[in-house]
Amino acid sequence: MSTPYRGRFAPSPTGPLHFGSLVSALASYLDAKQKNGRWIIRIEDVDGARCTPFFAQQIITTLNSYQLYSDEPILYQSNFSAAYEAKLYELKKQLKVFPCNCTRQSLTKHNGHHPFICQSDTSRPHSWRLKSCQQSYEYQDPIQGRLLFSNDLEITSPVLKRKDGYFSYQLAVVVDDHQQNITHLVRGADLIETTAQQLYLYELFGWVTPSICHIPLIVNLSGDKVSKQNHAQAIKNGNLHTLIRALHYLKINVTNATSINEALILATQQWNPSKLISIDKIKLEEQDQDLI
Ligand code: GLU
Repeated sequence: MSTPYRGRFAPSPTGPLHFGSLVSALASYLDAKQKNGRWIIRIEDVDGARCTPFFAQQIITTLNSYQLYSDEPILYQSNFSAAYEAKLYELKKQLKVFPCNCTRQSLTKHNGHHPFICQSDTSRPHSWRLKSCQQSYEYQDPIQGRLLFSNDLEITSPVLKRKDGYFSYQLAVVVDDHQQNITHLVRGADLIETTAQQLYLYELFGWVTPSICHIPLIVNLSGDKVSKQNHAQAIKNGNLHTLIRALHYLKINVTNATSINEALILATQQWNPSKLISIDKIKLEEQDQDLI
């Protein structure tokens, strides 16, 4: 018997839901629903310095206004520090991580990378980093095709726990996807650069890797990702036009839908990730400028 499909949308509540994240949420939702799977929202508020309960609630309200409801209770990563600490402890025992006092500034001469093991003084505030290694990964992404990560793990040593005590996205996302038995990740192509590190963590923990699929990024007219960093605005709640346009970028045409419910039903029938094959960026059309 095959494993039941379990997908998720895992926003970081550092701002409201914007058009680019609506497109990602829809892709993961449609993929799950078309395969009769479960779709789960998880709030990735692990970075306590940047995430707020206000944005978490606002994102959930917006998703729900588009009838995107989590099939299971919504988990908040901020409640799972003990689980991340336990996994970090395992990596310490395996000697796969090292303590580090380096500052961002001291790493600028290495382009922000940390391709070495530093002389760390653990009596001072320190982060925990994954040791670099020569592991390479080849991965078949249903949309992006064959992805080869050959030196990703060699040139960087990602932080797993920060000096200020917060765990990083890298560790938390792997632990949670495993704990929640997530079988399929459908997410934005901007996260491709994090994939090798996640594949490595799965391997170190002896866990099965979920299927990982990266949808094209929506970029603005200047070619920058539609993101909070690039000042994308909050989308309107429950707006059929916004939904139709978001689906348009997933190569789905529901212009005749008269309600959100109908648009989602038609979109679930039409969703076909192979229409997006090998595209990593899609430029926002002029007419949609006011949506971002
Ligand atoms: N929390 C991440 C973000 O908002 C997404 C994590 C993922 O889909 O792996 O960018």
